[in-house]
Parts: sequence; structure tokens; C-alpha cells
Amino acid sequence: MLDFLIVGQGIAGSILALQLLKRGKSIVVINNNQAHTASKVATGIYNPITGRKMVMSWKATILLPYLENFYQAMERTLGASFLHPLPMFRPFLTLQEQKEWRTKVLENGYLSFVEAIVNDEYHQENVVNQHGGVVLKQTGYLNIPLFLNATRSYLKVHNAYIEGSFVYNKIRFHSKSVTYQTMKARKIIFCEGIQAKQNPFFNWLPFRLVKGELLSVILPKPINVIYNRGVFVLPVGANKATIGATYDWHDLSCTPTEKARNTLEEKLTNLLKLPYEVVDHKAGIRPATLDRRPFIGLHPQYPHVGIFNGLGTKGVSLAPYLSEVFVNYLLSHGALPAAVQLNSVKRALYKTKLKRS
Ligand SMILES: Cc1cc2nc3c(=O)[nH]c(=O)nc-3n(C[C@H](O)[C@H](O)[C@H](O)COP(=O)(O)OP(=O)(O)OC[C@H]3O[C@@H](n4cnc5c(N)ncnc54)[C@H](O)[C@@H]3O)c2cc1C
Repeated sequence: MLDFLIVGQGIAGSILALQLLKRGKSIVVINNNQAHTASKVATGIYNPITGRKMVMSWKATILLPYLENFYQAMERTLGASFLHPLPMFRPFLTLQEQKEWRTKVLENGYLSFVEAIVNDEYHQENVVNQHGGVVLKQTGYLNIPLFLNATRSYLKVHNAYIEGSFVYNKIRFHSKSVTYQTMKARKIIFCEGIQAKQNPFFNWLPFRLVKGELLSVILPKPINVIYNRGVFVLPVGANKATIGATYDWHDLSCTPTEKARNTLEEKLTNLLKLPYEVVDHKAGIRPATLDRRPFIGLHPQYPHVGIFNGLGTKGVSLAPYLSEVFVNYLLSHGALPAAVQLNSVKRALYKTKLKRS
């Protein structure tokens, strides 16, 4: 009997599978390898300070150190190089912002993510920088396609990968296990990204999917920093960069749109002084949730069925640490944080409040 059957091999399923293998558990991953999944489209940036107001993101002081250790260890296990730590530069828009950051840097935890507050000469030849800016550390990106391919090869070597679509009504429940076709497992964990909306066990969860679009551009010279103001400019190899991203909660198709391209180009020209040529344009849907926290846990009525999903805009930074927390929970060594639990009281209250407002 298998310990775990995992459905989906995006960032969520891959990382959960690697964590379980590390703990000596027997697993099989079933994945239908769809083309435009969030993990395949995503840029893979990790960044502890996010949003228009640039605040420290949820659990950043735990997630960021954990993720760099995790992916570096996985580079050794999988024999591939997919993690690229890179500083991130955010130019200030006003002198007031510069002043606020000089105070903010002294606040709890921020210092560990700030490399320097720089003046208006920093990268002046590449980006608009009138008031200096902040250079962040513990930032960078994961080459997700490379990571997924390396994980898939590793799973295949361990006879732990099956390509195909999971058919929900073929699950059979027993007192201490489940069977699926010819496989018997202690538990099935769904890591299906946006496909969870079609999963009869979990389609009740309050997802709030959000489309994102990205451009690939060629630059006249290489850059060695991620620029981030309105859009990000992520260097991905010699003279190439990814520009992103947009957020659209209404159009949930994977088709790139002219509107998003125009938005990205307009923001890009406000930031970048270098000429560029657009060579590609992609779109994908993020498995985001109403309260911006992942969905992690076991089904309230079917305890042999679980979910690891809702990673939203931050799969790269959330999945490593939260998968370990989930594995501890699955192996009865720990509890799940209330914020990620499927039926937590706090989440229910939040939903009620949102409905009323
Ligand atoms: C434009 C864009 C930019 C982004 N940028 C970033 C970024 O810079 N940094 C960051 O951290 N995050 C980013 N994200 C978010 C990130 O992509 C997601 O958080 C993450 O990829 C979610 O991974 P997942 O494994 O949950 O889902 P997915 O990537 O959707 O993976 C699900 C997998 O399950 C398989 N599957 C689904 N249903 C079934 C089934 N029934 N049977 C078998 N297989 C099935 C699919 O084929 C797929 O392989 C971005 C997303 C988008 C769209």
C-alpha cells in the first residue's frame, strides 16, 4: 500500500512529493501535464516585501530563509540548477517615500530584507530613479519549468509518476485507506491548482482565481537586478527579461490580451530607460483564494482525502515551508496554522464579513 497518492505536479504537488520522499514515505504522483498551468506560466519571483504599500508578506521571516535552503537542497538532490537569488531594486516615487523607508527599515524584521537604501545614481542608466530607492535581499526567482522537469525525472526514476487525468468517481473508500484503479493508498492529496474548482470534494472552497499576463523582452544589454515599480523586470538569461504581471479577476481565459500588453508596456516605459523588443506574451490563472491564504488540510467528511492548494500569487515562497508543516500534520507530528485550515472559524467569519460588505 502507498502512503500517499498525489494529484497534480505543479509547484504544490512537486514540493509536497519531494518532502514526503525525503521523509521516507511511498508516493505516486498522477499528473495530466496541462499546458498553461500557473506553474508553467509563472515568473517564479520570490520577494518578502510586496504589494503597492510594500509591506512584509505573511510569515516572510520564516518562509524566505526556508525556501532558499529548501531549493538549494533540492538542486543537489535533483542535480539541476533552478534557484537564482538576485537583488531587487525598487525606486522611490517621492522624497516622502524615501523618508518613510528610512524609518521603516528600522522596524521589526525589515532590516533582514534590506540590502541598502540607495541614492539617485543607482542604476540610473537603466531605470528612472529620481529619488533613490530600496535594494532588497532574500529575493530572486525559481526557474519553475526546469524545477518541474527535474522533479518529474526524479519521480520517474523512483517509479512515482503516472501521466494522466485523475477521475474522481473512481475513488473507493475503505476504513483506513482509499483505492484508485489498481492503487491503494492511505491518503489522496489533491494539488490541482485551478482545476480544484471542478473537484467534487473541494469545489466548495472560496477560491478567487486571478488571471496574470507576462511579456518576454530582449534588452540591448544584460541586467543583474530585478527592477520592481509598477511592473517587474526580471532578467532571465543574457539580454532577456520577463515583464509582469497583470491581475484580472473577470477574464479567466488563458488567452493573452492586447489590453494587458498595453498596460504592461505603458508601465514598463515609465520604469525602464532601455529600449526593448517584445518577443513573447503569455497568460495563466493563479489559484488564489478570497482571504489570500492557502487551503491546506483534510476533507471534513472524507479524512482520507486532502488538499494543498490556494498558493495564489506566491507559490514559490509558500510551498516549501507550508508543505513541511502539512507533512508534519499528515504524519501526526504537528498542527496546521489556523490561517490555512479549510474550515477555520476565522475564515468563516471573514467570509461572512465580506458577504455583508
Ligand atoms: C502570470 C503569473 C505569474 C506568476 N508569478 C509568480 C511569481 O513570480 N512568483 C510566485 O511565487 N508565484 C507566481 N505565480 C503564482 C504561481 O504560479 C502559483 O502560485 C503556483 O504555480 C500554483 O501551483 P499549483 O501547483 O498549485 O498549481 P498548478 O501550477 O496549476 O499545477 C496543477 C497541476 O495539476 C495538474 N492537474 C490538475 N488537475 C488534475 C487532475 N484531475 N488529474 C491530474 N492532474 C491534474 C495540472 O496539469 C498541473 O500540472 C504566478 C502565476 C501567474 C499566472
